[in-house]
Formats: sequence, C-alpha cells, structure tokens
Amino acid sequence: MVCLLAVELPDAVELPKTGHVIGLDMGISALLTTSEGEKVENPNYYRLGQQRLRVLSRALARKQKGGKNRRKALKRVQRQHRHVGNQRSDYLHKLSTALVRSCDGVALEDLAIHNMVRNHHLSKSILDAGWAIFKQYLTYKAGSAGREIRFVNPAYTSKYCSNCGTAFQDFSLSTRWVKCACGLSLDRDHNAAINILVKAGWDAPLIAHVSHEAMRRIRSPQH
Ligand SMILES: [Zn+2]
Repeated sequence: MVCLLAVELPDAVELPKTGHVIGLDMGISALLTTSEGEKVENPNYYRLGQQRLRVLSRALARKQKGGKNRRKALKRVQRQHRHVGNQRSDYLHKLSTALVRSCDGVALEDLAIHNMVRNHHLSKSILDAGWAIFKQYLTYKAGSAGREIRFVNPAYTSKYCSNCGTAFQDFSLSTRWVKCACGLSLDRDHNAAINILVKAGWDAPLIAHVSHEAMRRIRSPQH
C-alpha cells in the first residue's frame, strides 16, 4: 500500500515584519480565542468526524472478542482515527501558517503547565493531542520565518482583569463573561488571551492602555 502524505515543507525564508503580535487562549468551547477577540472554532467536519469515531468505538465495544465482526469493527475505528487525525493536522497546518504570516510574535500558554492547571475531565486526550500538534507546527514555522513564539505560565490568566489587573471576585470555571469595577466587560477567553499577551512582555499596541501597575499584577498575580 502506498501512502502519500501531503507534507508542507517550511521554506526557511524570513517574512517581512508586520508590527503585529498576538496572544492566544487555547480553549475547549472554541479551539482558540485571540487577544483581539477573534474565536477560531473547531471546523464542523472535524466535530462530525469525532462523533462518528465515538459511534464506531461504541459499536466495537459491543462486538464479541475474537470474532470476525470485532476485527471488522476495529478496522473501521482505526480508519476513522486516521481520517480525523488527517483532518486535524490539515486544519492546524493552515491555522499555524496564517498566524505566522500575519504576526511577528505569538504568545500562548505553556502546554505542560496548562494541563496541570486546567485539566478537568473533558475529552482531554483529543484536545491535548491537538494542542501539542498546533504548538509543534507553530514553533517550526515561526523558526523558519523569523517569528517569535513565547510560552507563558497559564496560572491565573483567566482570573485577572486584563484592563486593571484586579482579580475577579466570584470567578468560577463556568464563568463565560467577565466584568470588573474598572468597566471591563469581556468574553472570558478574550480576556485571558489579552493577559497571555501581557505576560509575554511585548510592547503591543493592543495593550498600550494597560498601566504598568496592572501589567505587574497580571504578570505576577498574588494568590
Ligand atoms: Zn478591571
């Protein structure tokens, strides 16, 4: 069997500077949210592919061990696994390329620490695999294009106001929208993405209005 993989080879050519840096919050409801408030969802076909994978896996679990039907069901699961994996890497390739083209710097949370801080019981193996691949693509593309990726400690990025650096009261995992006495009213992941950008330490126009005192609080939160 011949397997042809579409490998995108990075061309080691530095891209012209864009004067643009961005923070990314990797999420569960949306694949990622940028510090500019843009949400990138998992594509529909990918969600449907995962659904089908779950259905096939349940069918496999019902088959009798050692039987012919079980072998067939296993093949179907494996084929669907490959299919979903290919779709995911194709999509993440496009996404990482777009980010590297449009930004001089990308800040995101350190994955290993992210897991310790935020792992609940959601279908994390799938999510983790996606994030790890995304990180890998982004890092090597940035390297060959003269871009910079900064990984920040994800602790408390959601829990602090990105405008004044104050810790939110009554913040919980289910909080989707954050409000602060300073006037900030923002989607939770958007707020986190700005904090990630602040933590990365770049001098970005987006965060020019954030005071030094607020930046200090966001970068080293008191807890
Ligand atoms: Zn505030």
